[in-house]
Amino acid sequence: MHTPYAIDKNAIDKNDVILTGDRATGRLHLGHYSGSLSQRLALQGQCAQTILVADMQGLTDNGHQPDHVATHILGLVADYLAVGLDPDKVTICQQSQLPALAELTMFYSNLVSYARLIRNPTVKQEINDKQFGQQVPVGFLTYPISQAADITAFGANLVPVGDDQLPMIEQTNDIVRKFNHVVGEPVLRECRALTSKASRLPGVDGKSKMSKSLGNAIYLSDDNDTIRDAVRSMYTDPQHLRVSDPGRVEGNVVFTYLDAFHPDAQHVAELKAHYQRGGLGDMTVKNVLTDSLTSLISPIRERRKALMNAPDYLSDVLKDGQKKARIQTDQTCQNVKRALGLLVG
Ligand code: ATP
Ligand code: MG
Repeated sequence: MHTPYAIDKNAIDKNDVILTGDRATGRLHLGHYSGSLSQRLALQGQCAQTILVADMQGLTDNGHQPDHVATHILGLVADYLAVGLDPDKVTICQQSQLPALAELTMFYSNLVSYARLIRNPTVKQEINDKQFGQQVPVGFLTYPISQAADITAFGANLVPVGDDQLPMIEQTNDIVRKFNHVVGEPVLRECRALTSKASRLPGVDGKSKMSKSLGNAIYLSDDNDTIRDAVRSMYTDPQHLRVSDPGRVEGNVVFTYLDAFHPDAQHVAELKAHYQRGGLGDMTVKNVLTDSLTSLISPIRERRKALMNAPDYLSDVLKDGQKKARIQTDQTCQNVKRALGLLVG
């Protein structure tokens, strides 16, 4: 499979530990592929890697409609396997089945101020996008703390994420440093983000980041007609009225996607030069993009379809992952309780 963001595997050490996850709020889309999945794929088998189906985090803005999260759990597992993640090389597990994660969240909550939480730029943006007004769920405001619990519970030091998650990595390291300072020993491990060259893919509207919750996504399970229609609807350069007019490629979402997903960078460079000097129509460029997206997505979609017909297999993958993850996360929680001096019995 074409993985456009392969990173330098020599930079990975066998002691590295990778943790990532996705909220169980919908199917995975091209933003996930460019921001995180492609790096997980490139690194699988190089070091320990855990992928968390973040169902509890999905509930932080879906408390009133838990079905919206429950219905997407197995679909996420199918998405992972369909893109090529291999359960023999990565541990796939479900957040709500690992009680240590909730416990760690409680312990860490005491080390984070309300002022620090409301300063988080991603959380601020999301509160605005979701139009919570004064009704921000407490669980939503504190989800960066639960992400710190997820990362530290596995002893992860590498987190392949889109750039909306950078404040969460910073928050995690604040907690790690504070905790280690308070207990006087290095119990928790600091981490760093692994971002890709397309770590904030815009939605097809060209405005906000592509997101499950904003209705601006192309999904890894979309059929070819849906992909073609989504590409056709993309804004290009509003000044590019006639084919002969010179066009702008900066901020032109069709070219942003070509940069992110077309396997031949040289060809994209030629298309850009042609578009900029004039003589290349929007429809022609959109057709090139449609072709490269359909050839990326079609095999993923077909594998996913087959996997969705085998729900027992998907839940077995989760159960197998859980066993391993439970041992690791319980151990970290025990270390935290010991360091806090709570194990007196
Ligand atoms: P939701 O709208 O429910 O928050 P989402 O589409 O933002 O869903 P998440 O599950 O929150 O997806 O994100 C999972 C991972 O994918 C994170 O590492 C995030 O940074 C990355 N990611 C999500 N959207 C994009 C995007 N548009 N570009 C790059 N990375 C992305
Ligand atoms: Mg998100």
